[in-house]
Amino acid sequence: MTIGVLALQGDYFKHAQAVQRLGHDAIYVKDSATLAACQKLIIPGGESTTIIRLIEELELRNALLDFAKQHSIMGTCAGLIVLANTKEGLPFPPLGVLDVEVERNAYGRQINSFVDSVRLNLFDKMVEMEGVFIRAPKIRKMGKSVKAIGYHKEVVVAVRQKQILAVSFHPELTEDFRLHQYFIEAI
Ligand code: GLN
Repeated sequence: MTIGVLALQGDYFKHAQAVQRLGHDAIYVKDSATLAACQKLIIPGGESTTIIRLIEELELRNALLDFAKQHSIMGTCAGLIVLANTKEGLPFPPLGVLDVEVERNAYGRQINSFVDSVRLNLFDKMVEMEGVFIRAPKIRKMGKSVKAIGYHKEVVVAVRQKQILAVSFHPELTEDFRLHQYFIEAI
């Protein structure tokens, strides 16, 4: 399968590596022609304000909105913010294809980043993984069509709304690629 990784800013290299390690092709997406060649898309962590500004400047918004109607997208950390509904603090509105409101940097600053165990419901089984949280957002409100599929303690850190999957941590920064595998095989 050909998985696109939005490569405007942030941690796209590690996501591409994870995709390749699972035996699939990864391509860096910076324009709509490349996006059209992808079957699925990953929006990486990084800085959501920068990613959203570049989406606007490169006129990628409509292509991404169209893609989201027909294809699966996984957003991680800043990628979750890009998919969500919360406009506050962003230079342009996010894509709004995931009906959640988020609070950016809700765990504090860079120095408060942490690694801790998270529980995820993958392939109808609860599994435990290491979650790397770096200036991570928290999901504050979820629409009815959004399902929580992962938790850190009691806090929801992974959600799914039909073909859109989003997590507030960085699954690409460990050697455990089960979330990528779930995204590629099941979403
Ligand atoms: N704090 C960043 C933001 O608001 C997200 C951090 C990350 O992706 N690691 O965009």
